[in-house]
Amino acid sequence: MSKMLANKDSSDIQENYKKVNNRIQEAVDKASRNRSSIRLIAVSKNQAVDRIEHLIKIGHRVFGENRVQEAKSKWLNIKKKNPDIRLHLIGPLQTNKIKDALAIFDVIETIDRERLAIKLAREISLVPKAPDFLVQINTGKESSKSGIYPEEADSFIIFCQKELHLHIKGLMCIPPINEEKSSHFSLLYKIAKKHSLRYLSMGMSSDFDTAIRFGATHLRVGTAIFGARDQF
Ligand SMILES: *Cc1c(COP(=O)(O)O)cnc(C)c1O
Repeated sequence: MSKMLANKDSSDIQENYKKVNNRIQEAVDKASRNRSSIRLIAVSKNQAVDRIEHLIKIGHRVFGENRVQEAKSKWLNIKKKNPDIRLHLIGPLQTNKIKDALAIFDVIETIDRERLAIKLAREISLVPKAPDFLVQINTGKESSKSGIYPEEADSFIIFCQKELHLHIKGLMCIPPINEEKSSHFSLLYKIAKKHSLRYLSMGMSSDFDTAIRFGATHLRVGTAIFGARDQF
């Protein structure tokens, strides 16, 4: 933790942020899309609070974290000071962390199994405002990654909607690192379209240009904004 919060000069962030936004605009123009249809999620995992606050000061408001515990320790205070911030959970959610997750996250992108969906449905009846939900699809069917396999996506989405009455807003995926990303992004797009889901969270620092071409509405960008992450 102390390492994570170590002081680090933040002047690079503004420059990186500008570059990322230019890259987004370029891809948006090429795809003849509207910039307003795309949200940039600044992935702040392993980033110190002062670097996050630097980006907030520039005017950014949408962030992503992959661990509930880390998010809680960093964001409770920041969100109190900046109630308009939207925080996305982009990492796996353990069922014993659901209460904490509901207290801090505005969007949970990683519904990836039936047991989690059932418990979430139960818990959100107890909170004043339910977050938005996305289903994570394991487009590459990698055993190392979580997510619903593509062939099970239809029945899982319908189960969440019809049986559990969860408001599923969209889908997210993390394609395999060493594969052409296009086929994964287009698969996610197809599944979302079939179910009339509006949100597509796909594209990271190295491939968000491609993701925009395939219809991404949410880009999860970490290193291109903050630079390399500190390792714990
Ligand atoms: C860390 C992370 C990102 C950001 O990755 P970068 O390559 O740093 O942009 C995006 N999505 C998920 C799920 C992540 O865990």
